[in-house]
Amino acid sequence: MDEPQDRPATSLLHSDAHARHGAVVPSIVQATTFAAASSEEFLDLATRSFADEFYIRYGNPNHTQVSLVVSALEDAERAIVTASGMGAVSTLALALLKAGDHVVVQRSVYPGTTTLTTDLLARFGVSADLVGQSSPEELESLIRPSTRLVFVESPSNPLLGITDLRRFADLVHHSGALLVADNTVATPLNQRPLALGADLVWHSATKYLAGHSDVAAGIVAGSEELVERVWRTHLTLGSVLGPFDAWLLLRGLRTLDVRMIRHNENGDAVARFLDGHPDVDSVFYPGLASHPQHALAASQMTGFGGLVSFVPRGGAERAERLLDALRLTVRAASLGSVHSLATRPAAMWSGRPSGPGIDIVDDALIRLSVGIEAKEDLIRDLEQALAVTSKDY
Ligand SMILES: *Cc1c(COP(=O)(O)O)cnc(C)c1O
Repeated sequence: MDEPQDRPATSLLHSDAHARHGAVVPSIVQATTFAAASSEEFLDLATRSFADEFYIRYGNPNHTQVSLVVSALEDAERAIVTASGMGAVSTLALALLKAGDHVVVQRSVYPGTTTLTTDLLARFGVSADLVGQSSPEELESLIRPSTRLVFVESPSNPLLGITDLRRFADLVHHSGALLVADNTVATPLNQRPLALGADLVWHSATKYLAGHSDVAAGIVAGSEELVERVWRTHLTLGSVLGPFDAWLLLRGLRTLDVRMIRHNENGDAVARFLDGHPDVDSVFYPGLASHPQHALAASQMTGFGGLVSFVPRGGAERAERLLDALRLTVRAASLGSVHSLATRPAAMWSGRPSGPGIDIVDDALIRLSVGIEAKEDLIRDLEQALAVTSKDY
């Protein structure tokens, strides 16, 4: 009989127990190198996969604690920790691709993923095609015998589109390729891509996993075999997270379950408030019944998260004045923090060449990363900001 599995709220606290030698709170192991008792032990450590007491680039006990906790959450056999989300995706791409290979990339992924797959990889002889997030038919037409990886992200940012992960996984596997999912926005508390058919999942742990806007980190999780290949390339690329940052990430993870409960609740409340406001033209939130892919979202997610995008009446100028008028939500890049953050994506990406990889977003679109403040206060703040900027529209 299978061992009963701990629920996420429990595994967040206990999955790393055997890797911290009884200490309730693990120590920060700042050493970059570890002594071996004999030449046999040295050789063993030097050649063992995922060694965490040999040399820092291979791993360290603080990395192992994080990877055990995230593996349990993502239903993965193995995970590794990197120095950022971009470190995670570039390491996995370079580990699994070679010249002559082809990749397919969802059109609406994180811009860094688009640049990596369509621009940087092209210089190494890897070709790429972009696919619409809601178009399995288009995916089917783009996959070729040389297709190795398909990159997806659901919900997407900033328009909260949903990718049918089961359907995409079926099509990708039919051709012998691998499905790679960025699970940063959903988090494993709301969605487990590996259980839906993805082969690898990666994170910007800088966002919800760490959760406090105070550490940059990345994760790659999946089968032992695939993650081992990624780890071997990680040794060469060296996107190594510092021990203190790994420790901070672990501390952030301990509260992920309670934070996500609040992010989900607040995201829902803010989306509903905006949806009912006469000065708001449109709201993008997968938890709203009016979201065109709400049923699909509900079939693969257990919560809808804290990202809410909306278009206020009055165009980009009104949107900017609204951001000025908010007292609790700070104007800042990034997402997934305990603090509410907001940006106008068109402004954030204005320096970027617009291209087929970049989502066309309304100039006035505001992306809210709803934090864990009291929802009544967040709504009151939005209400006053909409009111003080409404006169002219
Ligand atoms: C921030 C982000 C990334 C990049 O991660 P970094 O930790 O900033 O390198 C990738 N994907 C998504 C969805 C993100 O929000």
